[in-house]
Amino acid sequence: MSSKAFASQGDLEEKKVTFAELGEGAYAYTTEGDPNSGVIVGDEGVMVVDARATPVLAGELIDAIRTVTDKPIRWVVLTHYHAVRVLGASAYGAEHIVASEATFELIRERGAQDWASEVQRFPRLFRSAETVPGLTWPTITFDTRMTVWLGKREVQILHPGRGHTKGDTIVWLPESRILYSGDLVEYGATPYAGDAYFGEWPATLAKLAAMKPAKLVPGRGDALTTPKIHWPPSTARAASSPSCTTRSAAGARRATR
Ligand SMILES: [Zn+2]
Repeated sequence: MSSKAFASQGDLEEKKVTFAELGEGAYAYTTEGDPNSGVIVGDEGVMVVDARATPVLAGELIDAIRTVTDKPIRWVVLTHYHAVRVLGASAYGAEHIVASEATFELIRERGAQDWASEVQRFPRLFRSAETVPGLTWPTITFDTRMTVWLGKREVQILHPGRGHTKGDTIVWLPESRILYSGDLVEYGATPYAGDAYFGEWPATLAKLAAMKPAKLVPGRGDALTTPKIHWPPSTARAASSPSCTTRSAAGARRATR
């Protein structure tokens, strides 16, 4: 890494947060193109999908959760290993931190490196970085799928294949057909591709499309609440675009993790 300053280091503008209920007890916490999180409220506890970058930023998500429920936050699911998604996890005091086995491997192999480089590149996304106590280690790992019952609510946690990283994980609420996709899908943003598997990403996305989600919370960008999935993509652009993200020139952003 050179000592040259990144343009992102001057990117300090605050983003507007939207905390929206997409279905009963299923929320999208979206941040105008910064990393999103999800919140699922069950009978006796809460699950957070993606922990945010620091405990202080996680505290803002906890404040939002406390506007809708006082139930304990018992579960944190990591959609992938990127620092900006995982390093806030300690704030929740959750009993369970879930990641795919491949994500666990990436935390072990590259977690420290990703943390160091991302904190330097994106100071706004790592506000109060000094509050991060260390790498986030899962307490539960799974191979391709597991099911958590939050009381009567079924939550499926799936590793549908590789794409944005080798450990990509999605969270699926089969009853309401709400999908939390992590960075496999971004809306109005350009996915970081330094850990990507271009050859496999389209097939993984096809699995998401086959689930026919009614609503989808992407890794970045607004929640998608009208099911218009065009798959497979019909244009030649598909060959070069690994994501079903809408990527207009105006909406394209610097690729971030
Ligand atoms: Zn990412």
